[in-house]
Amino acid sequence: MVALPPPAQPTVDAIWRAREAEAAADPRSAYEGYGIGASALGTSCDRQIWLTLRWTSPQEAPTGRQLRIFERGDIEEERVLADLRRAGVELGREQERFALAGGWLRGKVDAIGRGFLEARKTEHVIEIKSMKAADWRAVQKHGVAKAKPEHWHQLHAGMAALGIARGAYVTVNKDTEEILVERVRLDVEEANRQEARVERLVAEHEAPLKIADNAERPPCRFCRHKALCFEAAMPRRHCRTCLHFAFGRDGAGHCMRLDEPRSPQRQQEGMDCPVHLFLPALVPGEQVDADPEAETVTYRLPDGTTWIDGAAGEQHDRS
Ligand code: SF4
Ligand code: SF4
Repeated sequence: MVALPPPAQPTVDAIWRAREAEAAADPRSAYEGYGIGASALGTSCDRQIWLTLRWTSPQEAPTGRQLRIFERGDIEEERVLADLRRAGVELGREQERFALAGGWLRGKVDAIGRGFLEARKTEHVIEIKSMKAADWRAVQKHGVAKAKPEHWHQLHAGMAALGIARGAYVTVNKDTEEILVERVRLDVEEANRQEARVERLVAEHEAPLKIADNAERPPCRFCRHKALCFEAAMPRRHCRTCLHFAFGRDGAGHCMRLDEPRSPQRQQEGMDCPVHLFLPALVPGEQVDADPEAETVTYRLPDGTTWIDGAAGEQHDRS
């Protein structure tokens, strides 16, 4: 028997649409991260980081339900900070931002605190998360590094950037209100390895190989770059996808063609640049020709057609 569709929920739908409209009206919604967030280091796919740094895939607007989840996370964070104060932890420097790898690896720590009873005098970087019971049990059983590597990197990168050797990962079980504190020790070698990883990917003009061949299996299944990797989608057009762009520091770059600096805001304006040329590694086709005089690059696409990218205007010929 075919399952009946769930009953319509017009009021609930109205809540989600109103939340989405509120978020879209916030000027911060248009903000695109200059670099990658430290939690992105939790992926084993270098290509994912490389594509994110180049702003290749469309920006994703959060759904109303996701916005509510984020809000709940913020509320939980405040509750946990209040509980830590109750336990005698002295908190300072909340929401401090940090940057590593020339400003391309970025993040924010929830707080820095001293007075944890496990090590009263030791300063800790604090990362707070709330999660459903199954995830919380996995953290309890396996530890944050294994169960939530993205959170481990978030906390650990903050410790490395701020020069604080201990971290406290505080998680709340949203179903039972149980709280877990896991202390994390700074691993300087790992911090250096991750910073070098980002620096290497910033400088790299070739796309790292795909980590898997199956778009429906993790990590590809939930990756926002899936269409680029498996559906021959074209990347977005702006300075970061242009072969004339050179990454600088702290989100800024330089146009080698026009010999001018490109701030993150001006990099977005590259979408209208008449001399934009896609980085060949981003085009889902085989490069078959390049004409430096005409400033064009010619590709054979998977469907057998020829596509000319370049200053003379994009041409798409059947051959
Ligand atoms: S879709 Fe898969 S291979 Fe492509 S970037 Fe994402 S995780 Fe990596
Ligand atoms: S050529 Fe145009 S799109 Fe390319 S980096 Fe320079 S300004 Fe940006």
